[in-house]
Amino acid sequence: MIKALRGMKDLSFEDSSRFTYIIDIATDIAKKYGYSYIETPILEETKLFKRSVGESSDIVGKEMYQFIDKGGNDVCMRPEGTAGVVRAFIQDKLDRRQNEKFKFYYYGAMFRYERPQKGRLREFHQFGCESFGEDLVYEDFTIIQMVGDIFKSLGIDYRLEINSLGCSRCMPPYRENLINFLNGCRDELCQDCNRRIETNPIRVLDCKNEKCKSLLRESPKLIDNLCSSCSSDFNRLKELLDIANIEYSVNSNLVRGLDYYNKTAFEFVSSSIGSQSAIAGGGRYDKLVEFVSGKSTPAVGFALGVERIMELVKMPNRERDGYYMGVMNSSDIDKLFPLAHRKRKSSSVTIEYRAKKLKAHLKGADRINARYCVVIGEDEAKNGTVWVKDLEKSEESILKIDEF
Ligand SMILES: [Zn+2]
Ligand SMILES: [Zn+2]
Repeated sequence: MIKALRGMKDLSFEDSSRFTYIIDIATDIAKKYGYSYIETPILEETKLFKRSVGESSDIVGKEMYQFIDKGGNDVCMRPEGTAGVVRAFIQDKLDRRQNEKFKFYYYGAMFRYERPQKGRLREFHQFGCESFGEDLVYEDFTIIQMVGDIFKSLGIDYRLEINSLGCSRCMPPYRENLINFLNGCRDELCQDCNRRIETNPIRVLDCKNEKCKSLLRESPKLIDNLCSSCSSDFNRLKELLDIANIEYSVNSNLVRGLDYYNKTAFEFVSSSIGSQSAIAGGGRYDKLVEFVSGKSTPAVGFALGVERIMELVKMPNRERDGYYMGVMNSSDIDKLFPLAHRKRKSSSVTIEYRAKKLKAHLKGADRINARYCVVIGEDEAKNGTVWVKDLEKSEESILKIDEF
């Protein structure tokens, strides 16, 4: 038997209704916030991700689905969504239209070659938004509010954590400060942290190792060392969240660890399941467009992990919907096609092609959760009528075929 690849899953039945439910709600809300859909290719040049996701990250270091195609090009299946959107933004020369704002939402499959024992999928799905051209902190607030709206609509409880990652003025001196501190306790920090002091010291703050965590409690904090612009933006963001009654906590160890991230960083953390896992994350990345060789453009965005949310979402009860149609004598089947075609203008219709007894038709209608079971029997065929049962109200009636 041919099976799906390790770490890859089919979505069908209950899973696929959860999936489409989440995408539909997120799409609807993103549109209300002025976002339009963008679809970018799954396959991109490897160097796009090296530049945007960063050579020092785990993703680029060991988790990419990277290969040489038949034309000898070094290509990679996207490990995340932002890079492709930024590439498209620059390719369409939108970075040259400096006074305009562009807002895109996307969703789709992402690929990371992770070790399967971690219980992580190698193909997973994200929904995300990217807003280009707006440097005011109001946009950071608005994006956070939008993500909150999405989770509220999905009935998912969350905690919001925010932080500021500073800017090119206040981050470099802080980084020096932090490196000095880290060098002072190098021997006590874990191996990963030791490696990161060289490659990406800010990421050390993110270490999940308990010993590292307790050592890092004493580390210098960026939020205590922000420049006046970063600090006033961060305070404004907190004010706006307060006014909107959006609860949050400041987590000074919330970092994204790539040089193009600046100022606002945020994470939505699920409080519904035992493990405290991030279900959405985002922030400002004013340097990314430049990193990918475009003209400097302020940008802010977020992405949410669809599979994690599928575990948490409370689906509304599925109501009976649409029509099931059947005949008791096979010679009457032709009468159903024009009837079904008419009803399909506004409803879903399933026709049972095989003649059956009434009881079997009722069972069939119930199985597909139809609201109405429509049957043509001997009498109905003779009189030009249909027998209809409303399965929700449990009411039966006989109607003229033309009036139905
Ligand atoms: Zn700053
Ligand atoms: Zn560590």
